[in-house]
Amino acid sequence: MQPTQLGPYRIIRQLGRGGMGAVYESEDIESGDRVAVKVLASHLSDDPGIRSRFLAEIETLKSLRSPGIVRLLSFGEQDGQPFFAMELVKGRSLDQLLREGTRFDWRTTVDTALAVTRALKSAHDHGVIHRDLKPGNLLVTEDGSVKLADFGIAKLFGGDSHTAQGNFVGTADYMAPEQASGKPIDHRVDLYALGMVMFAMLSGRPPFRGTHLSQVIEKQRKEKPPRISSLVDDVPDELDELIDRLLAKKPSARPPNALALSRLLTAIRTLRTGEEATPRPENDVSRTDGGPARSQSSLTVGPSSRPTHVAKHDRPPSEATEVVSPSDLGDTRPKGHPSAVEHGDPATAANGSGGVQRPASSDNDIDLLAATREVSDSLPLPTAADVALPAGNLDVTQRPLREFTQAHTGASSSSTHVERSSSTRFTTVAELEQAEAKHADRLARQQRIASSVIGVLIAVLLVGGGWWLLQPPSADLLYARIMTVAENEDADLRDAEPLITEFLARYPNDSRVEDVRGFASSIEVAQLGRQARRDARRRGQGIDAIERDYRTAMAMEDVSPSACLEALKSVAVLHHLELEEGNDTPSRADVSVVADRWQTLIEQDIERLEPLAIQERSIDSQRLASVFDEADTLLSDARDTTDPRRWQAALDRRHALLQGIVTLYSQRPHAADSVERATRLLAETGSLPPSPEIPPPATTETP
Ligand code: ADP
Ligand code: MG
Repeated sequence: MQPTQLGPYRIIRQLGRGGMGAVYESEDIESGDRVAVKVLASHLSDDPGIRSRFLAEIETLKSLRSPGIVRLLSFGEQDGQPFFAMELVKGRSLDQLLREGTRFDWRTTVDTALAVTRALKSAHDHGVIHRDLKPGNLLVTEDGSVKLADFGIAKLFGGDSHTAQGNFVGTADYMAPEQASGKPIDHRVDLYALGMVMFAMLSGRPPFRGTHLSQVIEKQRKEKPPRISSLVDDVPDELDELIDRLLAKKPSARPPNALALSRLLTAIRTLRTGEEATPRPENDVSRTDGGPARSQSSLTVGPSSRPTHVAKHDRPPSEATEVVSPSDLGDTRPKGHPSAVEHGDPATAANGSGGVQRPASSDNDIDLLAATREVSDSLPLPTAADVALPAGNLDVTQRPLREFTQAHTGASSSSTHVERSSSTRFTTVAELEQAEAKHADRLARQQRIASSVIGVLIAVLLVGGGWWLLQPPSADLLYARIMTVAENEDADLRDAEPLITEFLARYPNDSRVEDVRGFASSIEVAQLGRQARRDARRRGQGIDAIERDYRTAMAMEDVSPSACLEALKSVAVLHHLELEEGNDTPSRADVSVVADRWQTLIEQDIERLEPLAIQERSIDSQRLASVFDEADTLLSDARDTTDPRRWQAALDRRHALLQGIVTLYSQRPHAADSVERATRLLAETGSLPPSPEIPPPATTETP
């Protein structure tokens, strides 16, 4: 029974009728817009399985927004009977056109297929496999564009399946072998089906026919389809091959996806027409680019859309096995009765006009159901709506109404649906979108607030961190750093100079300031010493007396640490006394600072030299003792020998040794006695023994 109104829609006429219900052309009583309203048959609305599948179609359409897919406008429920409104596609289904005997040339076929690949890509990208692609579900608009409809058995990839794997509904004419076999399927079943549609567009029928559904299924699974080029003239080789690939039994032998397929189709179009398939309004296949002669072969619906392409074999149109009533747009599923008619059947061949009228045989109904059950143990095969389905046949996937109401009340949290009664609801997609937009807006606002809060926090942290970093180090920290350098024997105190300077500048009243000053002056003193030792060239440039004396003293360092040490002590005494007595040149304060530095420097040098001087003294005294011993021995030798040459050699050697002492040790304060003794011995030449040949002079040697 045809409803008169569903939600805000006044029912005008039936457009199609399928297993689950019917599609009506309707008018929105508020706006006057024409829409197509699909409603679940009232006697099926209580069946949870069918109901859930119907609701799933709404959910699927909700997620798909593509110019090539019928657009969902609203959905609702009236007295427990779910319905949804979609854009009204004014025109006919491709199935109807085929039934009318329309044949399509290869260009129109390729253009149509291109439009369908775009819709499929969009669906596949959203994880939706159509699973029931066939001419009855391709709606051709008045301007010739194509829209994919009927997502009634569409399945989400890997999602909760409403038709368990291995089950199928719909006709088997366009069904991929893996789907027909109940094997796992993927998006490539839709590519196979599109290959079948192209085959039917060119030749007027899909390749496999059978008296029973099971026969068609068997052929889908096993039989190699004929090449389209064997049935139709004027099909480019590339297209012939592409269709053959699409109809491959193995999904992997087909083009991998809708995008790849659309590229292949475009390539064929370009290659074969010598021009790029002109980009058109999406899905518009009303024009063909094959030149004026082909314009009649477009999909444009109307009187002009008569068959323009004559197949090699003038076959009855596709799905000739279905009962088609003149008022029915002819979806195959509602009637779904593959008959025993094969192409070439005289009864259909005689009916050249296409819309083949064959009485539905109840046998075929039964066969169809039986065949369906062969491959599908629990799935309801959609039958004519007026045939009550046995409950046992239903796919009882529990997806209750609750979910449906949630589906729209959830998204449209505020007043986006109108409650008419407990089982009457209505939601428009526009409202949903508004609510979604609002929600997205709110989210965006919240995000903006959150991000500005975070931004402020970051700024505070940065500024705070920067301030913290810019804070002067504490006296403790500075002192600790200075001490780290000062206590490290390998480190140069100069490395701590900036820290010392900073400490003295920042914390002049700190208790440790004296220590730090000590480090500071050490650095300065060391610096002075380095300067003084470094540049001898500055000698002539009027340097301070103290510096000159210091240099003189330090020049002895290499010869004798002891000498250097004594000299430094002298310098210290000398200049200290001078300073004490107060020379008139520098001011008192300056004098004391300069004197302090020199004093410190000299003390440091003395400290460093003292151990060296002790060592030197010890070595020198041993050495001198042995040299004097040797000199005595040589003198005895000279006295004892009778050989004048040995006498001479001994005395010469003794002289050299004593002379060496004078030369080498004269600068060493600790060796002054030895130098004096050596000098004296050298001078006492009269005490030397006389040569054996020459009688020695009568002198006595002093011990
Ligand atoms: P079913 O699940 O019964 O196959 P469909 O969605 O395929 O339902 O619709 C059945 C028929 O109704 C289609 O073949 C087509 O002729 C017609 N139809 C469906 N949707 C629309 C629409 N949006 N505009 C015009 N006609 C439509
Ligand atoms: Mg359909």
